[in-house]
Amino acid sequence: MKYLSTRGEAANKRFCDILLEGLAPDGGLYLPETYPRVDAATLARWRDLYHRSPQGYADLAFEILSLYIDDIPAEDLRAICRKTYTAEVFGTGEIVPLRHVEDGLWLEALSNGPTLAFKDMAMQLLGNLFEYELARRNGGRGEQLNILGATSGDTGSAAEYAMRGKKGVNVFMTSPHGRMSPFQQAQMFSLQDANIHNLAIQGVFDDCQDIVKAVSNDLDFKRKYKIGTVNSINWARLLAQVVYYFAGYFQSAKNESEKVSFTVPSGNFGNVCAGHVARMMGLPIAKLVVATNENDVLDEFFRTGVYRVRGSADTHETSSPSMDISKASNFERFIFDLLGRDGAKTRALFGEQLNKAGAFDLSQDAAFPAAKAKYGFVSGKSTHADRLRTIRDNWEQHGLMIDPHTADGVKVARQFREAGQPMIVLETALPIKFADTLVEALGREPERPAKFAGIEQLPKRVTVLDKDVQAVKDYIVRHVA
Ligand SMILES: *Cc1c(COP(=O)(O)O)cnc(C)c1O
Repeated sequence: MKYLSTRGEAANKRFCDILLEGLAPDGGLYLPETYPRVDAATLARWRDLYHRSPQGYADLAFEILSLYIDDIPAEDLRAICRKTYTAEVFGTGEIVPLRHVEDGLWLEALSNGPTLAFKDMAMQLLGNLFEYELARRNGGRGEQLNILGATSGDTGSAAEYAMRGKKGVNVFMTSPHGRMSPFQQAQMFSLQDANIHNLAIQGVFDDCQDIVKAVSNDLDFKRKYKIGTVNSINWARLLAQVVYYFAGYFQSAKNESEKVSFTVPSGNFGNVCAGHVARMMGLPIAKLVVATNENDVLDEFFRTGVYRVRGSADTHETSSPSMDISKASNFERFIFDLLGRDGAKTRALFGEQLNKAGAFDLSQDAAFPAAKAKYGFVSGKSTHADRLRTIRDNWEQHGLMIDPHTADGVKVARQFREAGQPMIVLETALPIKFADTLVEALGREPERPAKFAGIEQLPKRVTVLDKDVQAVKDYIVRHVA
């Protein structure tokens, strides 16, 4: 399989060439040159594999990944999948069990990994892929990668738990000092692995992002210290997420003639874009429902055809903070498909037009109606009041505690549910990560998985630094082996 860029660069890269990269050199995002189609017989075989193989999820992941990865020997790739998706790490043999909520509505549990958010599903695989690829580079002598990132919560902790103890990898994760929830701070700062570095910056999340950008823009420094990232535009992360759409489908549809819909609490459009890829491969998905919070960039697009990037004054801090976005960094992938994979047109919209006007309008474009009709997308929005109400009524009616992001999903899913067709909501985090909002909704603390008992009391490993690019560079220089 060859990979191309959404802005027109030719398809001459293979999976491991782009594994450690962010944007393509022309500023676009990488996509496979085609989506492999799977027929009903293959689906039936994969269903059987998922349900019957002792490591069903891992083996399903291998089947899907191997359609996109031809530069890792099959046996190695299978071993990487089996090492990643274990009951020990994800809590159950199904890895992503489905739970019935109410009429036609199901929750797919994606948040039982090490950091209790769905980002573990992809990041755990990425950690093992990175370690494998780095070790064999340089004629087998190995290569080093220093991951620099900024986090306000879920991404940073998922990256640290995926990369801890991995050979060849260091993580330098900046976060705004004192601004993450106590649970999230405890999760990250209690890691004692020598290759994990928590840098608490005296500033806000944007300051952390600015520092990461400044360091990455210093090309000499970047090359000399082998700086890389693990952000959500990474193709391998997206590909890993495709697998759980198949696993969700196999648990809800009785046979391949049935269709299922998915609702996805969305921010950067990475998760639901994986659903789009699954649908393009031939998985019988009826609708892909994009659920947003008050930051409704995506809902606005699917309703009106206008994509309008928000300024920082227009970006709200909400009680589903992992969906607080000003633009959706994976959205370009879908628009490229919507425009018939026209790289020049995609470049004109995301390069020139967004830079100039901060928005583009496809409402009059002949392609736009296909966003719904051909690709199955619909959308809805949920507010703080909706979130609290949805958390409360799921608790009262079903004895089910859901986190604020998943609540946004359930709220919107209820609007689009159809008789006779399962609607699966992706559970993107567990309530314990967002205890304040649960207390506000229910007047009680969420349940805490046993392995996290007393985590706030563990010794913390974190360095507080000024809001200063040079201070971060100096720290990296002192700590790369
Ligand atoms: C990252 C995240 C999201 C948003 O996912 P995208 O792939 O950015 O759309 C939603 N909920 C939670 C809990 C997250 O951590």
